[in-house]
Amino acid sequence: MVSSTVTARRERFRSHRIENFTESVIREMTRLAMQRGAINLAQGYPDFPAPAELKQAAADAIAADINQYAITWGAKPFRDAIAAKYARTYGMEFDPQREITVCCGATEGMVASMLACLNPGDEVVLFEPFYENYGPDTQLCGAERRFVKLYAPDWTFDPEELRRAFNSRTRAIILNTPNNPTGKVFTRQELEIIAGLCQEFDTLAISDEIYEHILYDGAVHIPIASLPGMRERSILVNSMSKTYSVTGWRVGWVLAPPDLSDSIRKVHDFLTVGAAAPLQAAGVLALGWGDEYYRHLSAAYAERRNHMVESLESAGFRCHVPRGAYYVMTDISAFGFPDDVAFVSHLIETVGVAAVPGSSFFSHSGDGVQKVRFCFCKKYETLESARRQLNKLKE
Ligand code: GLN
Repeated sequence: MVSSTVTARRERFRSHRIENFTESVIREMTRLAMQRGAINLAQGYPDFPAPAELKQAAADAIAADINQYAITWGAKPFRDAIAAKYARTYGMEFDPQREITVCCGATEGMVASMLACLNPGDEVVLFEPFYENYGPDTQLCGAERRFVKLYAPDWTFDPEELRRAFNSRTRAIILNTPNNPTGKVFTRQELEIIAGLCQEFDTLAISDEIYEHILYDGAVHIPIASLPGMRERSILVNSMSKTYSVTGWRVGWVLAPPDLSDSIRKVHDFLTVGAAAPLQAAGVLALGWGDEYYRHLSAAYAERRNHMVESLESAGFRCHVPRGAYYVMTDISAFGFPDDVAFVSHLIETVGVAAVPGSSFFSHSGDGVQKVRFCFCKKYETLESARRQLNKLKE
């Protein structure tokens, strides 16, 4: 038998699908923060406890022997709870039998939707800066990306540029509102422009709405699926992660018309079989909570946002104040570093705070070299320590 070197083996057994894949920069920063004992303001997950009743409901479900597979597209009571929540919140009707697929987080929801609906050579429109997963997601489908810039300070887009990104090969636009990393919340008027193009070019809108309940300064979240003519061409992806502070549960859902749901369910079934059954059972409780829970969530995050922005501005950052989600995009030009990666290593090594280099949200890394993203979904204690550490930048 010919013995092959590791390099040769890598070549022989490496799928083209993952060419140029790198470790997720966001998760890499978490790893470095842990190694170095830095405060982790990189990966967006809370360091405070999930709601006590929700944890109890999960424990109860396990004790009650809900420990075997749920139906692949999700336990019926959980799908019913999802349908009821969308009816209550947005007046939108989704048939739990044919239009709802429960999956392992929005991450699986997004990639399963794309794998189900896109073919090699199809084009996908993405707003930039974008959440890093969408790059690998589209690549796994062999789809080509067309980027449309969101311009600071309001992260608006030029409708003409958006139009130029559409053509007969465009199969989908990926939307993320409230937006990670910018905190932009797309307005009705902007969504109407996108919806118009989707209809004109017979294109799907794949919409990641995971921050739907984290809104500030009166911002309102509008699912693009609720716009006229969009229900039949929208795939709405969401999850329990951010809304109920359970990012490690990996329970998400995809809402789409029956024909699209059929395809998405096929991918989901063979990819993961299903999301954790006891956690879906607990999810029924959370999805039944009234408006008060969501008002409180936004209000609590608004205060943390203000705290974080104050810390950052006083340390010398220029902040793009978010209107939704729980990140602050900053401009680091004042510090005179050559690039975002050098700055973040300094931040981790010397200042003791981890953040995400801005370049990981752009197709051309050059566009993000003077940007860094911080998350603020943390205990006040953590935010206070971060403030103290960040002050070292002034020394
Ligand atoms: N969405 C979160 C972020 O942007 C974390 C994503 C993840 O690591 N799955 O930081």
